[in-house]
Amino acid sequence: MSSETVETILIGDVIRTRKPHPCGGDQWTVLRTGADIRIRCNTCGRLVMLDRESFLRRRKALVSRAASPESPSAGSR
Ligand SMILES: [Zn+2]
Repeated sequence: MSSETVETILIGDVIRTRKPHPCGGDQWTVLRTGADIRIRCNTCGRLVMLDRESFLRRRKALVSRAASPESPSAGSR
């Protein structure tokens, strides 16, 4: 019951999966979030689409949190 796992997924997050990609890489960059999560293998550039649940299950660790200088939440005028 550790609440270490951050369920927040941000575009630009770099995550590590439990199983490495066949190319040998195990780090992925989040390209898109929502109902489906699109990630790209940092090693070979392959794009993979996962639903949120599968993504969270595969994710082993957050390598680096996306630094979002501008969040598109109620900022336009
Ligand atoms: Zn790969």
